[in-house]
Amino acid sequence: MAVIIDGKALSAKLKNQMKEKVEFLKTTGINPCLAVIIVGENPASKVYVNNKKKSCAELGIESLEYALPEETTEEELLKIIDELNKNENVDGILCQLPLPSHICEKNVINSISPEKDVDAFHPENVGHIMIGDYTFLPCTPAGVMEMLKEYEIDVAGKNCVVVGRSNIVGKPMTMLLLKENATVTVCHSRTKDLASFTRQADILVSAVGKPGLITEDMVKENAVVIDVAINRLENGKLCGDVDFEKVKEKASFITPVPGGVGPMTIAVLMKNTVTAAECRKNK
Ligand code: NAP
Repeated sequence: MAVIIDGKALSAKLKNQMKEKVEFLKTTGINPCLAVIIVGENPASKVYVNNKKKSCAELGIESLEYALPEETTEEELLKIIDELNKNENVDGILCQLPLPSHICEKNVINSISPEKDVDAFHPENVGHIMIGDYTFLPCTPAGVMEMLKEYEIDVAGKNCVVVGRSNIVGKPMTMLLLKENATVTVCHSRTKDLASFTRQADILVSAVGKPGLITEDMVKENAVVIDVAINRLENGKLCGDVDFEKVKEKASFITPVPGGVGPMTIAVLMKNTVTAAECRKNK
């Protein structure tokens, strides 16, 4: 049976390290601060934003919340971001996605100053990730890399298969694995015969959002299986893409949902906020 990768414990460890850094920064007169913007009433987004605020409080990071109504215009949102960009006491700015359909996500992402872009979605930061020279890493893929490191899973020379090619998970995940010398295959909705690729994977990362997509027969014996997806079932329970109960009997390591990649994403967000505050100190 697979070792269950404990995202909760690892997230707590990383957050503790960040807490110490925050305490030190405060002795130098820098009070790390994260601004979180949410537009509208998306229930999942509200949960994510609350968790981010809670983590900030645990670590002693100041959080500014901008809970804006659904009908907020793009112009109004961009004006708030502009003010936060100029505010020297704000280290990180995060605008929770998705945004209501009348607001262009691309314009919003591009408006956040790259030095305060703790999600690492700005094209300038994406470019840095592409060339392997960065200040911030996108939170979810970086969280996965932290997990692999903690469990001493070496990716160099391994066959890694990433299922999903979104800008926030699949693509940056691919770049981070490549930087660590993995051989990476990326699959997506147009991939023909997905199983023929996943069965080759020494390390399989699934980031799709379809419960039951990855079944036992699609996984190689002793593979490392990382389930990034968060799906809510009709009964209210959370699950990933992977048939956890069956696949755990075959894999060597596996992440659960919940309690796997999710908590790591927030821990890396805290790390990025601390990094931004350290950059302010060293300016
Ligand atoms: P997304 O933008 O919807 O991307 C999903 C990707 O899956 C797309 O690239 C899509 O391919 C691909 N896909 C769809 N159906 C497929 C199929 N049958 N076979 C293979 N690939 C398929 O989603 P996302 O934002 O990347 O998020 C993915 C999942 O991760 C979601 O469940 C989300 O909730 C979760 N998530 C978790 C965290 C965390 O903290 N753990 C953070 C972010 C996201 P095309 O490109 O061809 O459409």
